[in-house]
Amino acid sequence: MTVRKVSHIGIAVERLAAQVPFYRDELGLTLIAEEEVADQGVRVAIFEVGDTRIELLEPTRPDSPIARFLERRGPGLHHLAYAVDDVGTALQRLQQHGCRLIDEQPRAGAHGARIAFVHPQSTGGVLTELCQEHATPLVSSASCATTPGDRS
Ligand code: ZN
Repeated sequence: MTVRKVSHIGIAVERLAAQVPFYRDELGLTLIAEEEVADQGVRVAIFEVGDTRIELLEPTRPDSPIARFLERRGPGLHHLAYAVDDVGTALQRLQQHGCRLIDEQPRAGAHGARIAFVHPQSTGGVLTELCQEHATPLVSSASCATTPGDRS
């Protein structure tokens, strides 16, 4: 597995509206997107910092992982994400080496990425995400298997 860089750092917040102004106005970071990741029950504000991003994470429902995190630990550093070329291959390798995974299969993340989480037990206590940025959407292989030139 090749880790290219720190993709982003996730910070759990109670309310985006209360926290976005600090990052945008005081630190002067560029807010590049705000979006909801429905299956994770989270709304994300994404800031650009050089080649890396800061993601503020607000829960959208009380049973989401971020809501439970806030309940247990309060707002703060939630996870660290590394950019990798291929999340599927990286997961396979970690699994073979006995690392504890949260996701055994890649899933859709914010900003069009394909992601998977590694358990803090294997990483020194830090929830760690592997992030394949600009991945093609996770769709059935049938819909992207052929290119127009293939139709003969
Ligand atoms: Zn993330």
